[in-house]
Amino acid sequence: MPAKWAIYHPQQGQEGFALKDLIDGYQKFLLRADRSRYADLCGGQKPHTLVIGCSDSRIIPEEIFSAGPGELFVLRNVGNLCCTDDPSVASAIEYAVGHLGVSRAVILSHGDCGAVKAACHPEHLFERGIRSWLEKECYSGASLEEAIKSWGIRQLERLEVFPVVKEAVEKGKLKTSLLYFDLGTLRLDRYDGADWIVVL
Ligand SMILES: [Zn+2]
Repeated sequence: MPAKWAIYHPQQGQEGFALKDLIDGYQKFLLRADRSRYADLCGGQKPHTLVIGCSDSRIIPEEIFSAGPGELFVLRNVGNLCCTDDPSVASAIEYAVGHLGVSRAVILSHGDCGAVKAACHPEHLFERGIRSWLEKECYSGASLEEAIKSWGIRQLERLEVFPVVKEAVEKGKLKTSLLYFDLGTLRLDRYDGADWIVVL
C-alpha cells in the first residue's frame, strides 16, 4: 500500500515546533513563487553558470546575482574549496561542465570567511571532519582579505586543472572566474589573473 503524506501541523511535538520557521518561510515562498517557471523546469535544467561558493549562511549566490531557479548550478562547501581529490567537488564540476554545458564557472570567495580564519588557527580545529577538510589549506597574506583572496586564487587554479574544465576552456565553451564578495560593503571584486579589479 502506498505511503500517504500527512498534512503537516506546525504545533505538533518538538520536531514540529523546530520546523515552524521553515514552514512559515515556505508559505511565503508559495505566495511569490513563479509557478510557470517551475513548471517549465520540470523537464530539465540548463543553467548558465557553475558557482562554487562557501556554505556560510550569509553568502547566497542566487541572491547576490539575482538569479532564479534553473540559472545557477551551485556547489557550496566550507571555504568554497575546489579540492581535486574530493568526489563531491569533482562530481559537481563534471556534471555542470561536462553534462549540462554551463558556459561559466565561478569561484565565489567572500569577506570574513570563517574557513580562512580557521586556517590561521589550526590548533582550534578539533573536529575530525573539519580538520581533514581544511588541513591542506593555508592562511597567506598580511590581512584577512588578502588571505581570502589568495585562498580563492588557489581554488581557481585547482578548478582549471580538472580535465573536463581544461577541455571546455580549450574549446572556447567555458570561461572561469574568481570573484570576491565583500560582506560589509557589498562590493564585488574580480580577479583578472594578476590583479583584483572592483566590479561594482
Ligand atoms: Zn566562507
